[in-house]
Amino acid sequence: MPSFVILEKCDGCKGQDKTACQYICPNDLMVLDKETMKAYNRDPQMCWECYNCVKICPQQAVDVRGYADFVPLGASVVPLRSSDSIMWTVKFRNGTIKRFKFPIRTTPEGSAEPSGGWPDGPDDINGQALFTEPESLGIPEVPTLKK
Ligand code: SF4
Ligand code: SF4
Repeated sequence: MPSFVILEKCDGCKGQDKTACQYICPNDLMVLDKETMKAYNRDPQMCWECYNCVKICPQQAVDVRGYADFVPLGASVVPLRSSDSIMWTVKFRNGTIKRFKFPIRTTPEGSAEPSGGWPDGPDDINGQALFTEPESLGIPEVPTLKK
């Protein structure tokens, strides 16, 4: 089931230029209704149910009805992120509540190096080497097909 916004909880990310759910959706599905200042999923059929919008929403205003292989029918699954962990609260339809907490980082927030310490690769968008290559591959040059 695709994501949906619980309108009573959504505060439109307090009128920022881009809401958190808009920022994170890999499929560019979330939009903000400027009249109501509520977000919505503009094309549910295209939703991958990746849970990104569910996890990033600061108001816990986005939900996805999980498939039975992920959570039993009728249960709800609500994530709560902190700077170093995520807590999933699962509420089963018989009222049982279970919580699962997992670390989400290996480095302190704000300290991750995008290049992992490797020098940037060639600044050539048409080149075949990826960012940090060839150094991160441990080779002097990325092998390419000779034309
Ligand atoms: S991230 Fe949450 S609070 Fe912000 S606009 Fe989206 S649904 Fe609303
Ligand atoms: S679940 Fe994923 S694909 Fe669906 S709207 Fe949210 S972020 Fe986008």
